[in-house]
Amino acid sequence: MPTYNFSAGPAVMPTPVVQQIQAELPSFQDSGMSIMEISHRSQLFDQVINDAEQDLRDLMQIPANYRVLFFQGGGTLQFTAAPLNLATAHHHIGLLDSGHWASRAADEAQRTHTQVDILASAHATNYTTLPTLTQPVDPTLDYVHLTTNNTIEGTMYTQLPATGNVPLVADMSSNFLGQTYNVQDFGMIFAGAQKNLGPAGLTIVIVRDDLIGHAQNLPSMLDYQLFADKRSMFNTPPVFAIYAAGLVLKWLKAQGGLAAMQQRNQQKAALLYDFLDQSQLFRNPVEPAARSTMNVPFVTGDPALDAAFIAGATEHGLLNLKGHRLVGGMRASLYNAMPTAGVTALVDYLAAFEAAHT
Ligand code: PMP
Repeated sequence: MPTYNFSAGPAVMPTPVVQQIQAELPSFQDSGMSIMEISHRSQLFDQVINDAEQDLRDLMQIPANYRVLFFQGGGTLQFTAAPLNLATAHHHIGLLDSGHWASRAADEAQRTHTQVDILASAHATNYTTLPTLTQPVDPTLDYVHLTTNNTIEGTMYTQLPATGNVPLVADMSSNFLGQTYNVQDFGMIFAGAQKNLGPAGLTIVIVRDDLIGHAQNLPSMLDYQLFADKRSMFNTPPVFAIYAAGLVLKWLKAQGGLAAMQQRNQQKAALLYDFLDQSQLFRNPVEPAARSTMNVPFVTGDPALDAAFIAGATEHGLLNLKGHRLVGGMRASLYNAMPTAGVTALVDYLAAFEAAHT
């Protein structure tokens, strides 16, 4: 029986990539050493990190005036690093309150003594809609923080809010490389790797170069300018995670790039939403225009039935469908590496469960 991993992260990786890692693990490029054992200062690794950066630049069409940085510390560390590096003029940012991760970002920014204005909130709809701007943004804000995809609530921005000259800083953790955006529309983008890019332990930062270098005396490990100057090798980078991410980037190119992935993701998500919308038992609470192609929460309304569904799904090889503890129910994450066959298998099991329980 095939298994399909619907985890929100760490998440499914492309099977050919996992197989390639297995095949070349004992001796990376005939060096007699595994990738886990080579120096980050070696020529071998130089090639790995340079290729990864170039492939990412190609895939996202990242302009030359943006720096690509490889960090550790997850998306969460960027909740701290972004205000420390970018909120230097006024120590004052705006934020769109689109759910749990946006609110975590607000908390961490406040800990850096940055004033955070909530410009709009979806609290009133229990985050089943997306907050949007209804008035012009205060031009003295250092930036506006946006979560492009809300992993827990299952909402996703396809249109960006207009912030005038105020840079947009995007937490793209859960739809990085799964949905296309224009990099020029952002001052900065960051994303933890462990959903759409590779193993945990790596975080990508893409930042416009005129925005960095203005902070004084930052801790080195949080300093974007230092990381840019040292090509992300101020200290030992997560060598294995960068290598694996590099393989995923090559896989993405072979799949036809991000526009092709986005189209496939829309088709996969539509299979599931179409089923849920006609179901008498299951439902997705999100306003259709705000729905994520990456994370699809759904419920029966009866926690005992939800638990029975999750247990039965697991027996059928449909893994990690339990919803986030904050919202309960179920969640299917359909990242780039989830094949259409996985979504079809899920829809078939949903239909069978519904037939048996109504
Ligand atoms: N932002 C979003 C949108 C996320 O989904 C997550 C993790 N689920 C985070 C930030 C936090 O990421 P990390 O665990 O890499 O710190």
